[in-house]
Amino acid sequence: MERHVVHCDLDTFFVSVERLLNSSLSGKPVLIGGGSDRGVVASCSYEARRFGVHSAMPMRLALRLCPEAVVVRGDHDLYSRYSGIVTEIIEEITPVVEKASIDEHYLDITGMDRYFGCWKWTQELRQRIINETGLPISFGLSVNKTVSKIATGEAKPCGEREVQGGAERPFLAPLSIRKIPMVGEKSYTLLRNMGIHRIGTVQRMEAPTMRRVLGENGVAIWRKANGLDDAPVVPFREQKSMSKETTFQQDTIDVDMLRRVLAGMVDALAFELRREKKLTGCVTLKIRYSNFDTHTQQLRIPYTNSDRTLTAKVGELFKKLYSRRMLIRLIGVRFSHLIHGAYQVDLFNDTLEEVSLMQAMDRIRLRYGTEAIVKGICLPDGMPAKPTKGGRRAAQRP
Ligand SMILES: [Mg+2]
Repeated sequence: MERHVVHCDLDTFFVSVERLLNSSLSGKPVLIGGGSDRGVVASCSYEARRFGVHSAMPMRLALRLCPEAVVVRGDHDLYSRYSGIVTEIIEEITPVVEKASIDEHYLDITGMDRYFGCWKWTQELRQRIINETGLPISFGLSVNKTVSKIATGEAKPCGEREVQGGAERPFLAPLSIRKIPMVGEKSYTLLRNMGIHRIGTVQRMEAPTMRRVLGENGVAIWRKANGLDDAPVVPFREQKSMSKETTFQQDTIDVDMLRRVLAGMVDALAFELRREKKLTGCVTLKIRYSNFDTHTQQLRIPYTNSDRTLTAKVGELFKKLYSRRMLIRLIGVRFSHLIHGAYQVDLFNDTLEEVSLMQAMDRIRLRYGTEAIVKGICLPDGMPAKPTKGGRRAAQRP
């Protein structure tokens, strides 16, 4: 059966939310970022992009390129709230929804055509989101996720685009190979060096040729170039969450030690999030007492993968949940409601230095393992950094 998959993406989401609250920002170049000029651009308006500004660029450089830009300090909670409102509207009427990032969703609406016609349904949903939130959003509709995502890109800003079943290849052929979601800087350069600019050229190649040049990745690109993609739309409840637990050899009420163990687990999980380029929107703390009574508490949080934010949130939960001074046998943390996203979401509070420190620590972990580097907060006071078997362990005081 032919599938019907919608992709939708809010246009310059952070900027649009700021404009809702302050209409004087409309039509102006707007940069969203941290408070200090050592910060990074988290998002910018189309007007600013015309000056060559893009996200993840140092704020100072962006202001040199576009001195008249208005700088707005990003508000994490606010954007997560609006993101949640959009998700709610979509989930109300859609059978299967995958929240792909803070401003992106995939919808599987296969079967809707029998009653409504998928295109009409998609247009109505888009109007409804615009009317109810005031936020501009673009939609793509096709038989799979890849083609719909590319269609959304072509529909921007604030438009909609349908690619009918069977029309995938001609739709993709004239577009740049850069439009294929998985073509990164490296593959792009490689393909360009082979003289390949347009997706149509990849369509005319054989899959084994692409394999010789780019390995398995090449075959995956070739499939996408030909409009082939059977990846399912995966809702939250079917997605994997990430969790860690520690069972103590001896039941304990040592709160300092418990906090250190928690901080260590949060750090390791946050690193896993960043490695997989994901953000979490919900943390759960689990405590099992010596009598096997188990208590869990959940907290919805603004999407993040920052150690600092997550350690604070889990610390809050711990304070709430651990009110009885009882011996603890096990403690665990889970991150769920995972969506795709990178550092950018957290750049409002962090300076360039803090972001590069976190990235440097992640590079060490990628090379030497998660245990290779530990923050001072995870070690008992005065404890010297201890080498682990075969690894190096450096204590890092934040
Ligand atoms: Mg967007």
